[in-house]
Amino acid sequence: MRVRERFACLSLAAGLVLMASLQAKPASRDIQQLFDGSRAFAHIEALVALGPRIAGGPAERAAALYIAGAMTSCGLDVEIQEFPQTFFEDLGAALEVVGGPALSPLTMLYSPPGEFFGVEIVFCGLGHPQDFDGIDVAGKIALMRRGEITFASKIANAAAAGAAAGIVFNSVPGNMNATLYSMAAIPAVMISLEDGAILTGLLDEGPVAVNLTIDVVWYPSTSQNVIGTLQGLDPDEGIVYIGAHYDSVWHGPGANDDGTGIGAMLEAARVLTRYGHQTKATIKFCAFGAEEVGSVGSEYFVMTGEEEVVGRGLGMINLDMIGVGDTLNIGNIGWADSALTDYTREKAAVMGIQDWAPWTAGTNSDHVYFEWMGVPVVFLYQSPDPYYHTAEDTPDKIDVAVFARNGRLATAVLYDWAKNPPVLARQLATADVAE
Ligand SMILES: [Zn+2]
Repeated sequence: MRVRERFACLSLAAGLVLMASLQAKPASRDIQQLFDGSRAFAHIEALVALGPRIAGGPAERAAALYIAGAMTSCGLDVEIQEFPQTFFEDLGAALEVVGGPALSPLTMLYSPPGEFFGVEIVFCGLGHPQDFDGIDVAGKIALMRRGEITFASKIANAAAAGAAAGIVFNSVPGNMNATLYSMAAIPAVMISLEDGAILTGLLDEGPVAVNLTIDVVWYPSTSQNVIGTLQGLDPDEGIVYIGAHYDSVWHGPGANDDGTGIGAMLEAARVLTRYGHQTKATIKFCAFGAEEVGSVGSEYFVMTGEEEVVGRGLGMINLDMIGVGDTLNIGNIGWADSALTDYTREKAAVMGIQDWAPWTAGTNSDHVYFEWMGVPVVFLYQSPDPYYHTAEDTPDKIDVAVFARNGRLATAVLYDWAKNPPVLARQLATADVAE
């Protein structure tokens, strides 16, 4: 239902933005030059000093208040938009065959904790409801194969069949991080295809018992988006969004991911407000929470503000990891008009940036719901980052010159786009919505 709604929105908004045409752009060289890389970098250090900014946790909240303070001191109108978010921290999982090898499980995101000693495992195919027919899995651990249905569905089906826990093995070599999206009824881990072959091989010979422990901390909590608004000169003009996320993974300091995006965005806000650069369109500086657990904050922002985003959104600049690596990727998913991405690529060339590359973005960051709604997106992402989602994602890994250059590009594009907004026939949106 929700997906259908989204695709309906996409089709109407896509028709809408196809009517966009661009006016001449002013020079924005002065704007770029005002961007102070060391000020932007100081925001990264301040965020990292708070510790891992786990979605729904106290460090994430402290980061939100820090960002709100920085935005307020720029003179932006600041709103903190709260939404429900389970705090979840994985402290590790262990799995061993009784009298056999130790395997290497990964806790699924939103698995409850659990301890099982000498509990039998039962192979339950792909974990469809019918796969449990005639199988006695009550009080046992369901072993399932990845594929065809979501991890959450497999685990829910196993729970409905009475299983005490679930293990899913990968369908391709190696292990992977899996999410259940919300707290599951029973504990669940992911193992590699290779570990899965060990278990199914042993099951071919007879009953298999395992010891499985899953150690997590979780509690219902709230996360928040911090939205700073810079009112445009013309209320009838639309809104240009620039976004980055301030949460981090539980074991990561989150310097590049995404302290860099936040640092650059806050410096862009300082430049545009401090020096009195006014734009026709309104600018919304969006610091999103809970990105690492499924872009929850940006989804909340777009879905609760759908009328504004669809009706007034002129573009969205997403900054996620812009400080490590030798290539600046400039792109979008391809769902909406490419005007903003095209413009950013031109701007990069004009600014003399050599090491950028066109790129088709994935759906794993905060741009996705904007683009789904038909808003033109550009996603800036520097790569490769060998420290991605590790404890090594610290400020010293950031190439400050590259980071500042990317921040300057984002600031210039933001300014240009809001100063001379693309002309969108926004009234069409309401006409189509009525259908
Ligand atoms: Zn990120």
